[in-house]
Amino acid sequence: MNVSRTNALDTILNRTDLDLDLPTAESQPISEFFGVNVFNETAMRDHLNEETYLGVKKAIQAGTKLDRDVAEQVAEAMQKWAMAKGVTHYTHWFQPLTGRTAEKHDSFFTLTPTGEVIEEFGADVLVQQEPDGSSFPGGGLRSTFEARGYTAWDPSSPAFIMEIGEGKTLCIPTIFVTYSGESLDYKLPLLRSQAYLEKAAIPVCQLFDKEITRVSATLGWEQEYFLIDETYFNARPDLMLSGRTVIGKAPAKGQELDDHYFGSIPERVYAFMRDLETECHKLAIPVRTRHNEVGPGQYELAPMFEAINVAVDHNQLLMDVMERVGRRHKLRVLLHEKPFAGVNGSGKHNNWSMSTNTGKNLLRPGRSPYKNLLFLTFLMNTIKAVANHNDLIRGVIASVSNDHRLGANEAPPAIISVFLGETLTRVLEELKKGKSETKSTKELLDLVSSIPDLEKDNTDRNRTSPFAFTGNKFEIRAVGSTANCAGPMTVMNSIMAQQLDIFYKEVQEKVGEGLSTETAILDILKQYIIDTENVRFEGDNYSDEWKAEAEKRGLNNFLDTPQALDVYAAQSTKDLFVGGGIFSEKELLAHHEVMLEAYILKLSIEAKVQSELAINYVLPAAVEYLTKVTNSINSAKSAGLTDLSGLVQTANQVANEINILKAKSAELVEKVDSIHDAHQLAKIVKPLMDELRAACDNLEGLVEDNSWPLPKYREMMFIK
Ligand code: ADP
Ligand code: MG
Repeated sequence: MNVSRTNALDTILNRTDLDLDLPTAESQPISEFFGVNVFNETAMRDHLNEETYLGVKKAIQAGTKLDRDVAEQVAEAMQKWAMAKGVTHYTHWFQPLTGRTAEKHDSFFTLTPTGEVIEEFGADVLVQQEPDGSSFPGGGLRSTFEARGYTAWDPSSPAFIMEIGEGKTLCIPTIFVTYSGESLDYKLPLLRSQAYLEKAAIPVCQLFDKEITRVSATLGWEQEYFLIDETYFNARPDLMLSGRTVIGKAPAKGQELDDHYFGSIPERVYAFMRDLETECHKLAIPVRTRHNEVGPGQYELAPMFEAINVAVDHNQLLMDVMERVGRRHKLRVLLHEKPFAGVNGSGKHNNWSMSTNTGKNLLRPGRSPYKNLLFLTFLMNTIKAVANHNDLIRGVIASVSNDHRLGANEAPPAIISVFLGETLTRVLEELKKGKSETKSTKELLDLVSSIPDLEKDNTDRNRTSPFAFTGNKFEIRAVGSTANCAGPMTVMNSIMAQQLDIFYKEVQEKVGEGLSTETAILDILKQYIIDTENVRFEGDNYSDEWKAEAEKRGLNNFLDTPQALDVYAAQSTKDLFVGGGIFSEKELLAHHEVMLEAYILKLSIEAKVQSELAINYVLPAAVEYLTKVTNSINSAKSAGLTDLSGLVQTANQVANEINILKAKSAELVEKVDSIHDAHQLAKIVKPLMDELRAACDNLEGLVEDNSWPLPKYREMMFIK
């Protein structure tokens, strides 16, 4: 039985506050419990002997395999540490292509051949496991007769304890591969892309500074989400099955007043946030920022940035923790990009940069001309990489849910362009004008030396840009709120690595021709400034003028996922990924396949649930109301009233919408069942869903409020 709307309202009005005992700054400052549930440096140092500890650290830093002996000792230490904290089970934790995380718990306890009960955990189970992976998406990589998938320990991301109620499980971050080692997850490509980036970035860095011997990408994500009361969630089959409301009339008051943004946080939500933050801190997820977002009922939280693979794990973990903490508060976290039509959607900005072993952020301008040349090199190579693979950035963020957001007028457009801000644009223009014939290298370097502190100069930040330079990092804003950041981050690392390789070769060539390194670099950067003009855009990305202008510039504007995903079949993508060692051709094909399959499956679910709601919820309410109106017409006639035009008009309107509803839902079901091609589905099914929705929403506007069966937008978004 579904929860009815009236029941839901009653339940919510009778809610009492949750009795929470959260640490405060006086009772227990964050520094005292940060990371207690993580097998981090401190835990390792406490539980491993000096030699093993150093061995582990070295292997992690060099990205090499751990010796069997060392792994055995780590396993033992991990078990001891975990059991002392009350852990009974362990699991390999991984990120299959479903987009979320997966785990299969095993107990430490086991029976020996003689029937003795012992607690056991060794290198064998730490390093590798074979979960029954046959039901995870594999895009044809696994035939059913060898459905096995393996999970393999990733020592670069620390193990952690997941607390669910009283239960505690040791989670070991792993990658998920097929029997023959092909990638079936998000993590392996990410790790490969990090290696590719590092290999390409080091020689470029060493043109400037020989001390730089390590480069790693950094990621700081910002997670947007909606919160609604659990009871409303349970009363909306569409939210339960597809994560968004597929019907629902816009409320009289939406976000027009902008009064929610950065407003004061409602008490119940505040309790949820504090609880969530405490859980995050125990897991060493360094969340720092919380605020209301633009949409009513919409919020955001953001951590400090971290090394890219740890940041990705932390975001995946966060999404799980959020949902669990939400339930404790009788709230449901909606991570969907567009749970409610007509109000802002949710994104997950990915702030991306690179840092070195010398502590330098490669996208932060420095104090000397030389340092600024290093900065400009990385800046221009990033933009050049985006210009080279514009469509791939669009492709990797494409999903059935993000389609509702991209290109809708309050979200980043589906056209990928780069925003730099006034100051940097001016610097680039100056550099471009300064031909080496007319200006000496010294003069150009002087020019470069005058880059002002950009972080302080962020007043002109363009919030409409999908890819913006924000002082010391690029912010990729088109990523959807449900996405695994590993997708876009793998693309960023890879396109940057490929571009840096090209750049380095170009420098070598010019130096070979007798130019000084600086002149060579400046020459190439000037060329890049010209080459990237078409992807640089400073204006309003939401405007129609930009759409027209972008078309002139040859930039694509793919409005749906299947179109956006075509880039995965392009030669340029194959060259990039296969050449960089990120994917084999087979893996690339499989990943493309999985993304298309996910689109088809999810769209079909949405269409079916919409048609169910139309027939089983909206139609009965409309019929009941129509009966009421026609009965009134009859009794009014009997009472001798003559002008019944208002009543008749209402009855006609309702009857008319019912006709549309019936016709469209039948057509929708028929199309969903018969079309199996993603491009066709997008073209035919989506417009049908819009038409069916319009009929349902019109009926919501006509039918009396008391008998409307589904929670309305104004209730879900505004009642706290
Ligand atoms: P916003 O105005 O978009 O909220 P913030 O200054 O709050 O910008 O930063 C947003 C995110 O950028 C944070 O998660 C922060 O950790 C991250 N960030 C800052 N510096 C870097 C960096 N060098 N690399 C990656 N992310 C970074
Ligand atoms: Mg941001």
